[in-house]
Amino acid sequence: MSTEGGGARLGSARSQHGRGLLELTDGKAVIVVEGLSRRFGDVTAVNGLSLKIQEGEVFGLLGHNGAGKTTTIRLLTGVLSPHGGEARVLGLDPTRDGPALRGRTGVLTETPALDERLTARENLSYYADLYGVPRHEVPARVEGLLEEFELADRADEPVGRYSKGMRQRLALARALLPGPELLFLDEPTTGLDPVAAREVRELIVRLSGEEGRTVVLCTHNLVEAQRLCHRVGVLEHGRLVALGTPAELVRGLDRGLRVEVELSPGDEGAVGALRGLPGVLEVVEERPGLLGVKVASPRVVPEIAAAVVGAGGRLYRLQPQEPTLEDFYLALHGGKGGR
Ligand code: ATP
Repeated sequence: MSTEGGGARLGSARSQHGRGLLELTDGKAVIVVEGLSRRFGDVTAVNGLSLKIQEGEVFGLLGHNGAGKTTTIRLLTGVLSPHGGEARVLGLDPTRDGPALRGRTGVLTETPALDERLTARENLSYYADLYGVPRHEVPARVEGLLEEFELADRADEPVGRYSKGMRQRLALARALLPGPELLFLDEPTTGLDPVAAREVRELIVRLSGEEGRTVVLCTHNLVEAQRLCHRVGVLEHGRLVALGTPAELVRGLDRGLRVEVELSPGDEGAVGALRGLPGVLEVVEERPGLLGVKVASPRVVPEIAAAVVGAGGRLYRLQPQEPTLEDFYLALHGGKGGR
């Protein structure tokens, strides 16, 4: 797995000055992007993006609404042409080799279009044809996917009668029809119930972990990104502003350690004792009886317990909180959005 980008906030999009794209294309890189740009009128949706994604990697593309994630996917799948820069996806140029690329990649768009009048089985058979799946393989592949996505029972009903979760499962099954080496998934769990969302996440882990496929995942769900992605890139106004593993990004956070402290509600004496404790940077009452305490170092944690008990308080829980990708993301955007 590449750690190119150093797991850091990036001052500007990284470019490999003086090195050509082909030199960057090593054996394991599935996606190589160099200085990719795309405008829509006055808006630069993707701005000088340089990036390498390795085989078998789950790569998360994060960013606010309008940051350029979908446009990036459309450029990498050959649906849009770039106004600058180059990309190689599975060794192909998406602009020139779009049809060949589409036979080897699966795409789940943000709002997948399914034919509502056709049944799930008919939808999959129709797309299998479009994707060039050999005719004799179509029935088995369609049946296998209907089973895998638990749609077999209702496979002969028109899709117009399906719930949102069933449609999303069908769209995912469709993305897997060509047996793709590479999957682009735009918000795959949005709108799904918790059980269906978990199944999709397990599927992503299986596709990458057991089957070695590469997944590019756009998501606003930072817990999901932290759990699933080997690396993430954060886009802001079309520029890559951070790149690294979730652990690397979080490690760079200079935010002290946060400890959750649960005690009797309204215990002003204990709160006062904590506020006066050396090494305590901040005490926030998050709800009655629950304090968020920021400390300068882990050495202060036992002192918190001593201070609460010393002030006659009743301590129910004391839990240091690991910083998360969400903390990193919020810190990156100054906690307010950076739109
Ligand atoms: P979201 O999280 O809302 O899906 P995104 O990160 O995927 O957002 P994009 O859809 O790539 O963002 O949009 C990036 C910018 O490009 C936005 O300002 C958007 O309005 C603009 N844009 C995207 N597609 C088009 C288009 N076809 N015509 C005009 N502007 C577009």
